[in-house]
Amino acid sequence: MTSNATKVRVMVEPGVWQHPFGTPLPYVDSTGGPSPRELATPRWAARARCVHLETEPEAWFPRDMSTGARDAIAICARCPVRRECLAAALTFGDEYGIWGGTTAADRALMADRLRHGTPLGAVLDDALADDSNESSGQWDGAA
Ligand code: SF4
Repeated sequence: MTSNATKVRVMVEPGVWQHPFGTPLPYVDSTGGPSPRELATPRWAARARCVHLETEPEAWFPRDMSTGARDAIAICARCPVRRECLAAALTFGDEYGIWGGTTAADRALMADRLRHGTPLGAVLDDALADDSNESSGQWDGAA
């Protein structure tokens, strides 16, 4: 299956996401989290829950906090590679869409912490500590 719903990530076939990972953001200290090299491989993405469900990729890139976005966030909450997914978004600076069950607004706060020297592992631990982890609900109009 191929989707060109987004330039950010493209499912080229079930279980395989192609992600045009760029350069890791210079302020991200990967200590305690996956390294950029680990994140750039497709291995973790092959275990992504969103790949194995019949959910439209657009659900992860909502225009507003629609039912679809909430459904996507609920799916992320039970994804086995949620940590890697969120780490990838933070490391490579994906500004749009739902990643690891977080919205762009959630990740903007996390990016601030990274910019101020908090290691990636600590940011991930805090973000994923609440297993129910629905998004914080912060919403700035962009997913
Ligand atoms: S956390 Fe969500 S968006 Fe990320 S791989 Fe898992 S299901 Fe997909």
